Amino acid sequence: MIQTHGVEVTYSGNAQALKPCALRFEPGAFTVLLGASGAGKSTLLRALNGLVTPTGGHVEVEGIGKLDTRRRLQAHRRRTGMIFQQHQLIGRCTVLQNVLTGRLGYHSGLRTLLPASRSEKTMALEAIERVGLIDHALKRADQLSGGQQQRVGIARAMVQKPTLILADEPVASLDPATAERVLSLLHGICKSDGITAVVSLHQLDFARRYSDRIVALAQGAVVFDGPASRLGKTEVAKIYGSGPATADDDDTEPTPLKTGTYA
Ligand code: ADP
Repeated sequence: MIQTHGVEVTYSGNAQALKPCALRFEPGAFTVLLGASGAGKSTLLRALNGLVTPTGGHVEVEGIGKLDTRRRLQAHRRRTGMIFQQHQLIGRCTVLQNVLTGRLGYHSGLRTLLPASRSEKTMALEAIERVGLIDHALKRADQLSGGQQQRVGIARAMVQKPTLILADEPVASLDPATAERVLSLLHGICKSDGITAVVSLHQLDFARRYSDRIVALAQGAVVFDGPASRLGKTEVAKIYGSGPATADDDDTEPTPLKTGTYA
């Protein structure tokens, strides 16, 4: 379980990106974050693993406590898999080498410079097999398609043996069919391993089909929190403004799409 207690974020020189929010993410639940571009989704995801330090409030993780020390933050990050829109793989390295980087959080200092152990390689190969890429394990990552690269990103997160997955627009740059396959894979793995997931998406239909819960943000504030069954046209209009509310609810794409990630 991970919980935000009045967490808020204001970037220097900018308006409040995330207004004080109290959210509790239960173990094993697959939560989808919705919201227009700039609504605060990335900021919330980043606050959940300390990549962004809240300017108010704090994050608490079951079994670790309040994330207010470096040691606790490291312990939390070790078990938190991050998946990004742009994969963030090392193109010239093999799939196996990329996946092994997911284990780095388990080592400190000089040990990170040494070759991976046999057991870690086995673990990485198992993860690669699970995402259906075993035949590509020794290929350079930049030789793979976008969908395959995102599956490498999932395998890299899996070798962390995560209890929490935070995914920031993981399928935004993929074509619809590939996006669905990748999201379905991620969802299936999280469900079978009991991993808590918080995943931002811009596809409303995917959000409806894959979420246990939807949390929606607008201008940094939580404007919807509940199951997809409660997300009607009125709620969608509140999240995205007038755009999708006028179209058919089920196959509407939100108007403002985010195309980049923040460094
Ligand atoms: P979303 O993920 O929903 O698109 P973000 O969390 O990325 O929203 O952004 C929320 C707001 O914070 C936006 O106004 C954005 O411009 C601003 N913002 C995000 N990251 C930074 C940053 N590193 N520095 C300054 N402002 C930022």
